[in-house]
Amino acid sequence: MSIGFTGCNLRCPFCQNWQISQTTEAAGKKIQAEDIVSQTLALGLKHIAYTYSEPFVHAEFVADCMSAARDNGISNVLVTNGCVNEEAARAIIPLADAANIDLKCFSDYSYKKILGGSLSAVKDFIKIAAENIHTEITTLIVPEFNDSEREIDNCTDFIASISKNIPWHISAYHPAYKWNVPPAKTETILGIKKRARQKLSYCYTGNINDNGNDTLCAGCGAVLVKRNGYKITKPGLAKKTSGDNSYYCGQCGTRTALLC
Ligand SMILES: [Zn+2]
Repeated sequence: MSIGFTGCNLRCPFCQNWQISQTTEAAGKKIQAEDIVSQTLALGLKHIAYTYSEPFVHAEFVADCMSAARDNGISNVLVTNGCVNEEAARAIIPLADAANIDLKCFSDYSYKKILGGSLSAVKDFIKIAAENIHTEITTLIVPEFNDSEREIDNCTDFIASISKNIPWHISAYHPAYKWNVPPAKTETILGIKKRARQKLSYCYTGNINDNGNDTLCAGCGAVLVKRNGYKITKPGLAKKTSGDNSYYCGQCGTRTALLC
């Protein structure tokens, strides 16, 4: 179950969801936290994602919803820009099971002047999340904003400094809201992914036409998990017959850091 809210604490001029995030008037309906949980149960779903815009703008509501979900055996996935102070982070993160956090660039100036946020707050949030729950990072590659080699390398190095096993989603921007430069090129995205894989084990591409959502073995590059839309197969994963619950590459035996 995916739910979203109107409003955001950032004002990214290239927002890909601006019809929801940059207004308080988007179509939708008022709903209580317990009704979200009961509808999720009625549909036989096991996870709720808080996504589309910024869930922390409605932190109290999200906390109520996450608590009710957890009481009913439903897991919570937080999709956030991470531009949140520590008190709010420490209140919500323990209620979540996983987070996908935006790292929009690696410039204090851009975060402050163009997005209306704070790079240091996002970095702190990512560290707290990664210490506590399964954490993945997403960066939308926006030409003329964050696509310089230096900035991408800084993002890569920061993520790797926490853990090389944090998955990084490298997504292509398309013109939206106030940003009119042409879309990020496929070769740009693939080049960034290739470079990042030297330091990060699990890199994915988004919004381009490739197999970028497949999970590759960090050791030999074999396809471990194949994703085609919502169809997921695991052609390359193996389990040891005894011992731990970890998964291994069936080809080279490298242990994966994946949740499967
Ligand atoms: Zn392998």
